[in-house]
Amino acid sequence: MQYLCIHCHYYQPPRGNPFSKEPLIEPDAAPATNWNERITTECYEPNAKIGNFEEISFNIGETLMSWLAENNATTYQLILQADALNVTRHQAGNAVAQPMHHTILPLDRREDKATQIMWGKTAFAYRFGRQSTGMWLPEMAVDIETLEALVEQGIEWVVLTESQVEGKPPGAGPYRVRLPEGKAIKVFVRDEQISNDMAFRLGYFGGAGRWAHEVLIPRKRDAGRLTLLATDGETFGHHWLGEEQFLHWLLTYEAFAAGYEVVTLGRYARMVEPQDEVTVRENTAWSCGHGLGRWATGCGCTPGDSFWKGAVRRAMDSLRIEIDSLYRQEMTKVNGIDPIALRNAYIKVVLGSTPRERFLQEAEVDVSGEQAERLLKLVEAQYYRQRMYASCTYFFPLLDSHTTRYGIANAAYAIKLVREATNIDLASDYRRDLSLAVGQEEDTGEPIRGDQVFDDLYNVLAEDDDCECP
Ligand SMILES: [Zn+2]
Repeated sequence: MQYLCIHCHYYQPPRGNPFSKEPLIEPDAAPATNWNERITTECYEPNAKIGNFEEISFNIGETLMSWLAENNATTYQLILQADALNVTRHQAGNAVAQPMHHTILPLDRREDKATQIMWGKTAFAYRFGRQSTGMWLPEMAVDIETLEALVEQGIEWVVLTESQVEGKPPGAGPYRVRLPEGKAIKVFVRDEQISNDMAFRLGYFGGAGRWAHEVLIPRKRDAGRLTLLATDGETFGHHWLGEEQFLHWLLTYEAFAAGYEVVTLGRYARMVEPQDEVTVRENTAWSCGHGLGRWATGCGCTPGDSFWKGAVRRAMDSLRIEIDSLYRQEMTKVNGIDPIALRNAYIKVVLGSTPRERFLQEAEVDVSGEQAERLLKLVEAQYYRQRMYASCTYFFPLLDSHTTRYGIANAAYAIKLVREATNIDLASDYRRDLSLAVGQEEDTGEPIRGDQVFDDLYNVLAEDDDCECP
């Protein structure tokens, strides 16, 4: 028997001003009010209603999952039910966890990798009521330290693309990747060509039946036992309107007719142990041909001058070091606090399972009054400084894009919290670093500097001292 798995990566960046209580309006998403709504109507909802979530393997970022929970309960529930159905049928769910803020893990320090993984696992368990055995890597970005951090937290497998591994026989695996100290992790490897074909040419295939006949059947002889297609889930319905039907017919009928059994990654990982080993090309990702240049230095993947990305990242890194140093200083004044464990536990407040006012008490931190409020603000600053590193801050060509502004807004909010907690204002150093980031304005093409973007946001925050964290 040969197997076919389609893995869909669903993700939306956090949109708009993160601290505004107003509903987000994005005119270019008309007739919908904003893009989350539009893509839900075109993709998440029809796919959920037609039952596709039961057949695919998928991960959904927490930024999107929490939005669905609040804005489209029917779709949200259907997605949860699809996973539960797989647990019942196959003793393996088909939803997969993802690091919390979609950060490029190889660019994170080890402690931050661990926090992102732990928060992602916790958010997943909160939504789906079970632990995930695998984890989706944001942008498939990988290095050995990331894989070690995943294994340390009980993650058994990840997904990479073919150009990221060496020594692979035909098929998607899973393969064993050896790690230091005798450890190992399983890696599924997606078929890069047919995955990309699906993403970029789906509308020209002439339907699932023809595609199965022309692509799936001829490749059976030398494709290996498992064929894995992994791509953005928005391909089916949003990028290609109405093509949730393609997925439906492929997974319920045509794949079977072509001699394949449809399987999910969670189920296959339980069925099959790795026979072969591969090695991983570190500091690679699925959407950049320049290592991790797209998120670290700027590269040719985006048009125009993208050196601003390196300057913005340097500004973020310098700010992070200062925020962390103040955080540790304050925490060591209180007996028995493990600063990183306290930060990691804060996810319970974000998810709403622990009220903010009970958090320190639950963590057995013996402080009260003003000191408690100061510590809480510093823990919150840790949360926002993690969010500065969401991959989308650095992904697009323009410094002035919504998603880059959003990253800088999170930095501004972390600075505000630190200032309130310690009376130390990190804004001027951060501004000076950001002034080296020169990009173009989205509408006019005029030059714009990072400090100008920051000033807009920071002034709004300074005026509105009661503004509420999301
Ligand atoms: Zn690139």
